[in-house]
Amino acid sequence: MNLAKFPRRGYLQGPTPIEAAPSFSRALGGGVNIYIKRDDMLPGAAGGNKTRKLDFCIADALLLGADTIITCGAVQSNHCRLTLAWSAKEGLDCHLVLEERVKGSYDPEASGNNFLFQLLGAKSITVVQGGSDMMAAMNAVADKLKKEGRKPYIIPGGASNPIGATGYVACAQEILQQTFESGLKLDAVVLPSGSAGTHAGILVGMIGCNAGIPVYGINVSRPRELQEPLVHKLAVATAERVGAGNIPESAVDCNGDYVGAGYSVVTDSMLEAVTLLARTEGILLDPVYTGKAMAGFIDMVRKGKFAKGSNLLFLHTGGSSVLYAYMESFRKSWTA
Ligand SMILES: *Cc1c(COP(=O)(O)O)cnc(C)c1O
Repeated sequence: MNLAKFPRRGYLQGPTPIEAAPSFSRALGGGVNIYIKRDDMLPGAAGGNKTRKLDFCIADALLLGADTIITCGAVQSNHCRLTLAWSAKEGLDCHLVLEERVKGSYDPEASGNNFLFQLLGAKSITVVQGGSDMMAAMNAVADKLKKEGRKPYIIPGGASNPIGATGYVACAQEILQQTFESGLKLDAVVLPSGSAGTHAGILVGMIGCNAGIPVYGINVSRPRELQEPLVHKLAVATAERVGAGNIPESAVDCNGDYVGAGYSVVTDSMLEAVTLLARTEGILLDPVYTGKAMAGFIDMVRKGKFAKGSNLLFLHTGGSSVLYAYMESFRKSWTA
């Protein structure tokens, strides 16, 4: 794979740290060594994984002469926050279409990312019902802008297309380079699996480098039987783009046991995971993605899925700005 040939904007400013989490590892008691890849520290307002994808997607938009970005997400979307931030930096207008996945959950006065959408200067926010055709809704916004003489570019939800996922192929290479330099022999990578670009990209990168490191996705919205085909399809398309070769279905592992009642809905194990990592390592997770993924990881460690002495890397994809929209649930769990 030669990723240098793909246009990108250069948002990264170098590799994100891989941080050992010894107190957290001890607290879990499975005899494993947990490391955290700090993509929550990526540049871009409040950080997070979408910066790696937008690095490539916005480069594509600018090459096509766009002056306006349209994208979509849930009501507390980190992807929308970061798309707004990088659009601001590039001097591009940015319009959002928000999907109300939980009925009645959109509140223009809400905290967390919703507040940041306004602070970062969203040109318009269109709210649609859960289950809507998001591409159709974004196309409607694009048609209106085109009539006004604008040149809009649509970035799909989560920037999860082969262009965006290339950012996580690069992240896999970055992880392999870092572990080569430090001498850390990784046994597995664990990450949240949502719109699938992160999971697909890391998987393609690991397979394309013949790394022999298994990748475990923990779902945040779908059951295994829906998430695995989604990740596989995007991985195949991404592998084709970057020249990574064959992606076997058997390499795609998406655990759906920690979603709870649905996307963004609080679970007890998420509250426990977020609180435990904060109080052992001082690292902030988020309630929608990394909190649920870490809850799954904790459960896997406690159930003995990983051999004693394993070196395990958790990919921290960001999102802590959403914590402030969930304060009540956390406070209740601490007094329970
Ligand atoms: C978007 C997001 C994810 C999931 O990444 P996908 O590429 O959509 O699967 C994980 N964590 C955070 C904080 C996110 O914002």
